[in-house]
Amino acid sequence: MVILDQTPFYPEKGGQVGDLGDLSSEKGCFTVFNTKTPVNGVILQIGTMTEGCLEKGDVVHAKINASLRKNTASNHTGVHLLQWALRKHFGDSLEQQGSLVDSSKLRLDFSLSKAPSPKELQQIEEMIQKKILENTPIKTYEMAYEKASSDPSILQFFGDKYGDKVRVVDIDFSKELCGGTHAKATGDLGTFVIVKESAIAKGIRRIEAKTGLSAFSYLQSERELLSSVKSFFKAPKEALLEKIEKEKIEKDDALKALKSLEKKALKDLSETLAKKTTGSPPTLAEIVDVPFKDLPTFAEDLTKKCPHSVIILGSLQNGRCQLIVRVDPKLPLDAKALIQKVAHIIEGGGGGKKHAATAGGKKPENLRLAIETLKTFIQES
Ligand SMILES: [Zn+2]
Repeated sequence: MVILDQTPFYPEKGGQVGDLGDLSSEKGCFTVFNTKTPVNGVILQIGTMTEGCLEKGDVVHAKINASLRKNTASNHTGVHLLQWALRKHFGDSLEQQGSLVDSSKLRLDFSLSKAPSPKELQQIEEMIQKKILENTPIKTYEMAYEKASSDPSILQFFGDKYGDKVRVVDIDFSKELCGGTHAKATGDLGTFVIVKESAIAKGIRRIEAKTGLSAFSYLQSERELLSSVKSFFKAPKEALLEKIEKEKIEKDDALKALKSLEKKALKDLSETLAKKTTGSPPTLAEIVDVPFKDLPTFAEDLTKKCPHSVIILGSLQNGRCQLIVRVDPKLPLDAKALIQKVAHIIEGGGGGKKHAATAGGKKPENLRLAIETLKTFIQES
């Protein structure tokens, strides 16, 4: 940690990140990875010695990372423009609830009772883009707080603490009390693009946006995505939405047809199986190709088709097995007790009621053995 008598490093405050850079002297180099201000007037350069050493009293050359600072400044101006556009669109009752600015993005939280529509967000972006193209110079100056607070054209935030002297960031159409770093003119922002809008609490919205080259890269990546989607669907931009809708309808129809085929196949299977009960009491013991989720209804349906019977069904799916036993209520047998007798064979556990019980198992290779053991036990009891 290094403290200098004077420094160009901007410390983390007012939602803006601290500067990065380095401090170098003849004896060493200190890389600054954060700048903070724990008390007013004291600026801490936080970092690590990357070369040699520094001692108290050394004269250093302090160099901030200019490109990061430039992007951060552009994003901070972006926050002011966003705030101006939102208030112009939604009215002056909209209030800032917090903001965050770094070199790659900006974020503004504000009060608004309903979500802005995509169209409104587009309008906000357009208002800001027009102001960027006007290239209005940005002035900063200090004035007495008393004077600033009585000027309704200067935006200040209720709850913020201000000293006797305050700094005004003046973009002609937008004036705010702010100590942050800013672009020299609105044109420096180049581009402004909203990347996300969300709710963070009841009545509080959050907009995340980008300016400059990082906004440009974002737009390029969006175009790249669109281009991949176009080539995936083999359709030009104009026909893309129609093509996606058409494919969705076709997929839904195909799924519907598949479901009805599956239903028919299960019905056919249950009719074939209903004829296969043997012994006394009539018992059906089979491994069936029925998904786990459909097995209980399938077994119930078979019970209806085969009165006074015992139905034992097994099914295999993704390396696991499922066993189901159904007993006609008129028979002196307990499905739950029966399944508990063989659940260990498939390394499983199960439960249920007197007339129907199920068990899931981790040893599908023993499913046949479990079913046969159960059938023999029923026939011999
Ligand atoms: Zn500001």
